[in-house]
Amino acid sequence: MKETLLYKKLKDKKVQCQNCAHYCLILPGKRGICGVRENVDGKLYALNYGKAIAVNIDPIEKKPFFHFLPGSHSLSVATVGCNFRCANCQNWDISQGFKNKKEIPGESLLPKEIVKIALKNNLPSISYTYTEPTIFSEYALDTMKLAKKEGLKNNWVSNGFWSKELFGLISPYLDAANIDLKSLEDDFYIKYCGGRLQPVLDILKRLKNKKIWLEVTTLVIPTLNDKEEIFKKIANFIKYELGPETPWHITQFSGAMSWKLQHLPETTVETLEKAWNIGKEAGLKYVYTGNISGIPSEDTFCPECSTLCIDRTNYIIHRHDKQGKCPKCSANLNLILK
Ligand code: SF4
Repeated sequence: MKETLLYKKLKDKKVQCQNCAHYCLILPGKRGICGVRENVDGKLYALNYGKAIAVNIDPIEKKPFFHFLPGSHSLSVATVGCNFRCANCQNWDISQGFKNKKEIPGESLLPKEIVKIALKNNLPSISYTYTEPTIFSEYALDTMKLAKKEGLKNNWVSNGFWSKELFGLISPYLDAANIDLKSLEDDFYIKYCGGRLQPVLDILKRLKNKKIWLEVTTLVIPTLNDKEEIFKKIANFIKYELGPETPWHITQFSGAMSWKLQHLPETTVETLEKAWNIGKEAGLKYVYTGNISGIPSEDTFCPECSTLCIDRTNYIIHRHDKQGKCPKCSANLNLILK
């Protein structure tokens, strides 16, 4: 465990965590909403520091990143814990399942050991993913600093529910982020995620202003966020606030492995394609469907002349671009290649 970097000491040994947008007030002996930050005698500690619950090598497309180091693999790491409690969570055993237990599960793995694994496997990047990197920010930050020194890139796959203080801390070391934009309705965030919408929108804009490569993901859940009106709002937010070159991933929900939504059906291909069309009609250059393979809406087409530039099937990609440009008209495809 390690003393956290972002918190305020208050009267009577209470503390206020400033790591995420919950800004939890925590009494001595208690933990915050994420379940991994504990007030020990007036000081706030990250109980999950150096305790990896998952370490894997994944295709970067699985995160999903389609424009950041395409075709590469990334070392993916996580600890237990999450500052949300999404009903649809597929990793709920590690994001929520430990919350009433005293022990924090995980294998001891130091930041320098994570970087060593990435280097040994010739991986160009480290992904902070699976649960929510916000709640292991100290562990991620120490790893990110070492990774940068070794020429590796860092990316976060996150719900975006960060504090502005956390943004200031990690953004100098962050190369790319894929942020979930689950809905543009605050009620959805309150009811199904245990969070709020506005802090996520603020962080998306901060990332864009800081020129950190950004991709946005919306998991489409039948009956909860699958209305055309919601797709239009999200597409317009991306276009006008983040820029039309920002990729939007629209992904299929599957209830079987979810925490609390086993009763809902899978998202239909028809619904995903409807959202895809809405994104394109709004003027987004790169809209992708996800979790369904073998349909053209997961390929990259030139935004100028519609030539197929990258085709993808099950994380296997075939690049037809020329160094990030369309092979036919040479338009820029907004790819981060190194
Ligand atoms: S990281 Fe967020 S959820 Fe966890 S203690 Fe801090 S403010 Fe609360």
